[in-house]
Amino acid sequence: MSTDCLFCSIVAGDIPAEVVSETEHTIAFRDIAPQAPTHVLVIPRRHEPDVASLAEADPEATVDLIRHTKKVADEQGTGSYRLVFNTGADAFQTVFHCHGHVLSGRQLTWPPG
Ligand code: AMP
Repeated sequence: MSTDCLFCSIVAGDIPAEVVSETEHTIAFRDIAPQAPTHVLVIPRRHEPDVASLAEADPEATVDLIRHTKKVADEQGTGSYRLVFNTGADAFQTVFHCHGHVLSGRQLTWPPG
């Protein structure tokens, strides 16, 4: 856990979130500023800054996270979904605790910009 990390505070239950499902390694909760009818963030309980760091540090949690995104897409969305890991400030990562955005429920456009 990182003491000044927003998502670690959500994992710890110190900041409320609308949790939709949990696994041993991960938590899924609704994005506070949804960009689609279904917009859920799936994060590892463990603090790692991005998905590549998580893969290096904990492959089991990484696989769990990817499986969890599919479950969220099936249960909360239409089954057709986009999974986004913004990685680095220039890619618009604003919270430096690994998280996958699951976006579903509308026609998505490409390229994402
Ligand atoms: P990113 O820009 O990829 O780092 O995504 C961070 C996401 O976290 C954004 O989509 C925010 O809307 C979302 N977010 C920030 N604070 C909260 C919060 N307290 N609860 C849920 N989602 C949040």
